[in-house]
Amino acid sequence: MDQAWWFPAVAPTKAGKAPLVMLAERSLPGSFIVDQTGRRFTNESSDYMSFGQLILEREKSGDPVESMWIVFDQKYRNSYMFAAGLFPRQPIPGSWYKAGIAHSGASATELAESMGVPVDSFTDQFRRFNDDAAAGTDSEFARGASAYDRYYGDPTVEPNPNLRPLDHGPYFAVKMTLSDLGTCGGLRADERGRVLSEDGAVIDGLYAIGNTAANAFGNRYPGAGATIGQGLVYGYIAAHDAADKKISAS
Ligand SMILES: Cc1cc2nc3c(=O)[nH]c(=O)nc-3n(C[C@H](O)[C@H](O)[C@H](O)COP(=O)(O)OP(=O)(O)OC[C@H]3O[C@@H](n4cnc5c(N)ncnc54)[C@H](O)[C@@H]3O)c2cc1C
Repeated sequence: MDQAWWFPAVAPTKAGKAPLVMLAERSLPGSFIVDQTGRRFTNESSDYMSFGQLILEREKSGDPVESMWIVFDQKYRNSYMFAAGLFPRQPIPGSWYKAGIAHSGASATELAESMGVPVDSFTDQFRRFNDDAAAGTDSEFARGASAYDRYYGDPTVEPNPNLRPLDHGPYFAVKMTLSDLGTCGGLRADERGRVLSEDGAVIDGLYAIGNTAANAFGNRYPGAGATIGQGLVYGYIAAHDAADKKISAS
Protein backbone atom coordinates (compact mmCIF):
# COMPACT_ATOMS: atom_id res chain seq x y z
CA MET A 1 0.00 0.00 0.00
CA ASP A 2 1.76 3.14 -1.17
CA GLN A 3 -1.15 5.55 -1.37
CA ALA A 4 -3.21 7.65 0.99
CA TRP A 5 -5.52 10.64 0.76
CA TRP A 6 -2.58 13.00 1.29
CA PHE A 7 -3.36 16.18 3.13
CA PRO A 8 -1.14 19.16 3.99
CA ALA A 9 -1.31 20.02 7.70
CA VAL A 10 0.25 22.13 10.42
CA ALA A 11 3.25 20.20 11.79
CA PRO A 12 2.71 18.76 15.28
CA THR A 13 4.30 20.63 18.20
CA LYS A 14 5.84 17.37 19.44
CA ALA A 15 6.19 13.71 18.51
CA GLY A 16 2.99 11.77 19.10
CA LYS A 17 0.72 14.79 18.57
CA ALA A 18 -1.55 14.78 15.53
CA PRO A 19 -0.94 17.27 12.71
CA LEU A 20 -3.76 19.83 12.20
CA VAL A 21 -5.27 19.57 8.71
CA MET A 22 -5.36 22.66 6.47
CA LEU A 23 -7.81 23.10 3.61
CA ALA A 24 -8.84 26.66 2.71
CA GLU A 25 -5.81 28.11 4.55
CA ARG A 26 -3.56 27.34 1.55
CA SER A 27 -5.90 29.10 -0.88
CA LEU A 28 -6.83 32.22 1.02
CA PRO A 29 -5.25 35.50 -0.11
CA GLY A 30 -2.39 37.06 1.87
CA SER A 31 -0.46 33.80 2.15
CA PHE A 32 2.00 31.60 0.25
CA ILE A 33 4.05 28.46 0.94
CA VAL A 34 7.83 28.04 0.69
CA ASP A 35 10.24 25.16 1.23
CA GLN A 36 13.66 25.20 2.90
CA THR A 37 15.06 27.27 0.01
CA GLY A 38 12.73 30.15 0.82
CA ARG A 39 11.01 29.75 -2.56
CA ARG A 40 7.49 28.67 -3.51
CA PHE A 41 7.35 25.26 -5.18
CA THR A 42 3.74 24.77 -6.29
CA ASN A 43 0.31 26.30 -6.64
CA GLU A 44 -0.71 26.43 -2.97
CA SER A 45 -4.40 26.19 -3.91
CA SER A 46 -4.10 22.88 -5.74
CA ASP A 47 -6.17 19.99 -4.41
CA TYR A 48 -4.70 18.22 -1.38
CA MET A 49 -4.00 14.95 -3.21
CA SER A 50 -1.98 16.65 -5.98
CA PHE A 51 -0.12 18.66 -3.35
CA GLY A 52 0.79 15.40 -1.58
CA GLN A 53 1.80 13.61 -4.79
CA LEU A 54 4.16 16.49 -5.61
CA ILE A 55 5.87 16.19 -2.21
CA LEU A 56 6.32 12.45 -2.79
CA GLU A 57 7.63 13.00 -6.32
CA ARG A 58 10.20 15.47 -4.97
CA GLU A 59 11.24 12.88 -2.37
CA LYS A 60 11.66 10.19 -5.06
CA SER A 61 13.60 12.53 -7.36
CA GLY A 62 16.23 13.18 -4.66
CA ASP A 63 15.17 16.81 -4.21
CA PRO A 64 12.97 16.44 -1.12
CA VAL A 65 10.90 19.16 0.51
CA GLU A 66 12.78 19.07 3.80
CA SER A 67 10.64 21.72 5.43
CA MET A 68 7.67 23.78 4.30
CA TRP A 69 6.16 26.91 5.71
CA ILE A 70 2.93 28.79 5.16
CA VAL A 71 3.72 32.49 5.28
CA PHE A 72 1.03 35.12 5.94
CA ASP A 73 0.47 38.61 7.28
CA GLN A 74 -1.57 40.02 10.17
CA LYS A 75 -4.51 40.83 7.91
CA TYR A 76 -4.75 37.16 6.90
CA ARG A 77 -4.69 36.18 10.59
CA ASN A 78 -7.38 38.77 11.33
CA SER A 79 -9.62 37.56 8.54
CA TYR A 80 -9.73 33.76 8.48
CA MET A 81 -9.89 30.61 10.58
CA PHE A 82 -6.62 28.72 10.78
CA ALA A 83 -5.95 25.01 11.29
CA ALA A 84 -9.57 24.27 12.29
CA GLY A 85 -9.22 25.90 15.70
CA LEU A 86 -7.71 29.39 15.60
CA PHE A 87 -10.39 32.02 15.12
CA PRO A 88 -9.66 35.30 13.28
CA ARG A 89 -7.51 37.67 15.41
CA GLN A 90 -6.70 34.90 17.89
CA PRO A 91 -2.93 34.95 18.41
CA ILE A 92 -0.83 31.99 17.31
CA PRO A 93 -0.35 29.83 20.43
CA GLY A 94 2.84 30.42 22.40
CA SER A 95 3.44 26.65 22.37
CA TRP A 96 3.84 26.79 18.57
CA TYR A 97 6.67 29.36 18.87
CA LYS A 98 8.28 27.36 21.67
CA ALA A 99 8.16 24.19 19.55
CA GLY A 100 9.73 26.06 16.59
CA ILE A 101 6.73 25.52 14.31
CA ALA A 102 5.83 29.24 14.30
CA HIS A 103 7.92 32.34 13.65
CA SER A 104 7.10 36.02 13.31
CA GLY A 105 8.92 39.14 12.15
CA ALA A 106 8.29 42.81 11.55
CA SER A 107 9.67 42.44 8.00
CA ALA A 108 10.29 39.69 5.43
CA THR A 109 13.99 39.79 6.34
CA GLU A 110 13.33 39.37 10.04
CA LEU A 111 10.93 36.51 9.33
CA ALA A 112 13.43 34.69 7.08
CA GLU A 113 16.15 35.01 9.73
CA SER A 114 13.85 33.58 12.37
CA MET A 115 12.69 30.70 10.10
CA GLY A 116 16.27 29.88 9.10
CA VAL A 117 15.71 30.08 5.32
CA PRO A 118 18.07 31.98 2.94
CA VAL A 119 17.21 35.66 3.41
CA ASP A 120 17.92 36.88 -0.14
CA SER A 121 15.97 34.08 -1.74
CA PHE A 122 13.00 34.52 0.63
CA THR A 123 12.82 38.32 0.35
CA ASP A 124 13.03 38.05 -3.44
CA GLN A 125 10.17 35.52 -3.39
CA PHE A 126 8.19 37.75 -1.05
CA ARG A 127 8.53 40.71 -3.46
CA ARG A 128 7.71 38.61 -6.51
CA PHE A 129 4.62 37.11 -4.89
CA ASN A 130 3.44 40.56 -3.81
CA ASP A 131 3.94 42.02 -7.30
CA ASP A 132 2.01 39.12 -8.84
CA ALA A 133 -0.72 39.34 -6.21
CA ALA A 134 -1.17 43.07 -6.80
CA ALA A 135 -1.60 42.35 -10.53
CA GLY A 136 -3.96 39.42 -9.76
CA THR A 137 -1.93 36.89 -11.78
CA ASP A 138 0.42 34.26 -10.37
CA SER A 139 3.17 34.22 -13.01
CA GLU A 140 4.91 31.28 -11.30
CA PHE A 141 2.17 28.69 -10.61
CA ALA A 142 -1.13 30.13 -11.94
CA ARG A 143 -2.77 30.16 -8.51
CA GLY A 144 -6.38 31.19 -8.87
CA ALA A 145 -6.68 30.13 -12.51
CA SER A 146 -8.92 27.11 -11.86
CA ALA A 147 -12.46 26.88 -10.47
CA TYR A 148 -11.11 24.52 -7.76
CA ASP A 149 -8.58 27.16 -6.62
CA ARG A 150 -11.21 29.89 -6.50
CA TYR A 151 -13.73 27.74 -4.61
CA TYR A 152 -11.48 27.93 -1.51
CA GLY A 153 -10.50 31.58 -2.05
CA ASP A 154 -12.02 34.74 -0.63
CA PRO A 155 -14.72 36.02 -3.04
CA THR A 156 -14.46 39.54 -1.57
CA VAL A 157 -10.89 39.86 -2.87
CA GLU A 158 -10.56 41.03 -6.48
CA PRO A 159 -9.45 40.45 -9.19
CA ASN A 160 -8.08 37.10 -7.93
CA PRO A 161 -9.77 35.58 -4.83
CA ASN A 162 -6.59 33.58 -4.09
CA LEU A 163 -4.10 36.45 -4.20
CA ARG A 164 -3.40 39.53 -2.09
CA PRO A 165 0.00 41.09 -1.38
CA LEU A 166 1.32 40.53 2.15
CA ASP A 167 1.57 44.14 3.27
CA HIS A 168 0.01 44.24 6.73
CA GLY A 169 2.84 43.30 9.11
CA PRO A 170 3.86 41.66 11.30
CA TYR A 171 4.46 38.57 9.20
CA PHE A 172 4.19 34.94 10.29
CA ALA A 173 5.38 31.51 9.17
CA VAL A 174 3.89 28.23 10.40
CA LYS A 175 5.57 24.93 9.69
CA MET A 176 3.66 22.38 7.65
CA THR A 177 3.88 18.64 7.16
CA LEU A 178 2.29 16.12 4.81
CA SER A 179 -0.49 14.28 6.62
CA ASP A 180 -3.42 12.20 5.37
CA LEU A 181 -7.18 11.72 5.70
CA GLY A 182 -7.01 7.95 5.41
CA THR A 183 -5.64 5.31 3.09
CA CYS A 184 -6.61 4.55 -0.50
CA GLY A 185 -4.03 2.11 -1.74
CA GLY A 186 -5.65 -1.10 -0.57
CA LEU A 187 -7.06 -4.11 -2.37
CA ARG A 188 -7.75 -3.75 -6.08
CA ALA A 189 -11.39 -4.37 -6.89
CA ASP A 190 -13.35 -4.51 -10.14
CA GLU A 191 -16.39 -2.48 -11.24
CA ARG A 192 -18.59 -4.63 -8.97
CA GLY A 193 -16.39 -4.16 -5.90
CA ARG A 194 -15.02 -7.72 -6.16
CA VAL A 195 -11.42 -8.06 -5.00
CA LEU A 196 -8.90 -9.04 -7.67
CA SER A 197 -5.92 -11.25 -7.06
CA GLU A 198 -2.47 -10.25 -8.31
CA ASP A 199 -3.09 -11.97 -11.66
CA GLY A 200 -6.33 -9.99 -12.10
CA ALA A 201 -8.72 -12.88 -11.37
CA VAL A 202 -11.82 -12.25 -9.22
CA ILE A 203 -11.61 -13.70 -5.70
CA ASP A 204 -15.03 -15.21 -5.25
CA GLY A 205 -17.09 -13.74 -2.41
CA LEU A 206 -14.53 -11.12 -1.30
CA TYR A 207 -15.42 -7.42 -1.68
CA ALA A 208 -13.51 -4.21 -0.92
CA ILE A 209 -14.90 -0.68 -0.98
CA GLY A 210 -14.04 2.71 0.52
CA ASN A 211 -10.68 3.16 2.18
CA THR A 212 -9.88 -0.57 2.28
CA ALA A 213 -9.89 -0.61 -1.53
CA ALA A 214 -7.49 0.91 -4.04
CA ASN A 215 -8.60 4.38 -5.13
CA ALA A 216 -11.02 4.06 -8.08
CA PHE A 217 -9.46 7.28 -9.47
CA GLY A 218 -5.88 5.92 -9.47
CA ASN A 219 -3.62 8.28 -7.53
CA ARG A 220 -5.83 11.31 -8.17
CA TYR A 221 -8.59 13.22 -6.42
CA PRO A 222 -11.11 14.67 -8.87
CA GLY A 223 -12.86 16.89 -6.32
CA ALA A 224 -14.91 17.20 -3.15
CA GLY A 225 -16.63 13.98 -2.05
CA ALA A 226 -14.34 11.71 -4.06
CA THR A 227 -13.57 9.59 -0.99
CA ILE A 228 -17.01 9.19 0.58
CA GLY A 229 -18.58 9.21 -2.89
CA GLN A 230 -16.72 6.16 -4.12
CA GLY A 231 -17.29 4.39 -0.78
CA LEU A 232 -21.06 4.90 -1.07
CA VAL A 233 -21.29 4.02 -4.76
CA TYR A 234 -19.21 0.85 -4.55
CA GLY A 235 -20.86 -0.12 -1.24
CA TYR A 236 -24.22 -0.03 -3.01
CA ILE A 237 -22.94 -1.94 -6.04
CA ALA A 238 -21.07 -4.56 -3.98
CA ALA A 239 -24.08 -5.17 -1.71
CA HIS A 240 -26.30 -5.73 -4.75
CA ASP A 241 -23.74 -8.04 -6.29
CA ALA A 242 -23.48 -10.08 -3.08
CA ALA A 243 -27.29 -10.21 -2.69
CA ASP A 244 -27.79 -11.29 -6.33
CA LYS A 245 -25.21 -14.00 -5.86
CA LYS A 246 -26.98 -15.28 -2.75
CA ILE A 247 -30.36 -15.30 -4.53
CA SER A 248 -29.02 -17.17 -7.55
CA ALA A 249 -27.26 -19.70 -5.25
CA SER A 250 -30.40 -20.47 -3.24
C1 LIG B 1 -10.93 15.53 8.72
C2 LIG B 1 -11.49 14.74 7.57
C3 LIG B 1 -12.28 15.38 6.63
C4 LIG B 1 -12.78 14.68 5.54
N1 LIG B 1 -13.59 15.32 4.64
C5 LIG B 1 -14.13 14.64 3.61
C6 LIG B 1 -15.02 15.28 2.70
O1 LIG B 1 -15.34 16.46 2.83
N2 LIG B 1 -15.53 14.55 1.66
C7 LIG B 1 -15.21 13.23 1.48
O2 LIG B 1 -15.69 12.61 0.53
N3 LIG B 1 -14.36 12.60 2.35
C8 LIG B 1 -13.83 13.26 3.40
N4 LIG B 1 -12.98 12.62 4.27
C9 LIG B 1 -12.59 11.23 4.02
C10 LIG B 1 -13.70 10.29 4.39
O3 LIG B 1 -14.18 10.61 5.69
C11 LIG B 1 -13.18 8.85 4.39
O4 LIG B 1 -12.50 8.60 3.20
C12 LIG B 1 -14.37 7.89 4.53
O5 LIG B 1 -15.05 8.13 5.75
C13 LIG B 1 -13.89 6.47 4.50
O6 LIG B 1 -15.01 5.64 4.64
P1 LIG B 1 -14.84 4.09 4.86
O7 LIG B 1 -16.22 3.57 5.09
O8 LIG B 1 -14.04 3.50 3.77
O9 LIG B 1 -13.95 3.95 6.16
P2 LIG B 1 -14.29 4.35 7.65
O10 LIG B 1 -15.23 5.53 7.70
O11 LIG B 1 -12.98 4.47 8.34
O12 LIG B 1 -15.12 3.11 8.18
C14 LIG B 1 -14.48 1.91 8.55
C15 LIG B 1 -15.29 1.34 9.69
O13 LIG B 1 -14.82 0.04 9.98
C16 LIG B 1 -14.74 -0.11 11.38
N5 LIG B 1 -13.77 -1.18 11.65
C17 LIG B 1 -12.43 -1.12 11.58
N6 LIG B 1 -11.88 -2.33 11.89
C18 LIG B 1 -12.91 -3.16 12.12
C19 LIG B 1 -13.00 -4.55 12.46
N7 LIG B 1 -11.91 -5.30 12.59
N8 LIG B 1 -14.23 -5.06 12.63
C20 LIG B 1 -15.36 -4.32 12.46
N9 LIG B 1 -15.33 -3.01 12.13
C21 LIG B 1 -14.13 -2.44 11.96
C22 LIG B 1 -14.32 1.24 11.89
O14 LIG B 1 -14.67 1.40 13.25
C23 LIG B 1 -15.14 2.16 10.97
O15 LIG B 1 -16.42 2.44 11.49
C24 LIG B 1 -12.48 13.29 5.38
C25 LIG B 1 -11.69 12.65 6.33
C26 LIG B 1 -11.18 13.35 7.40
C27 LIG B 1 -10.33 12.61 8.42
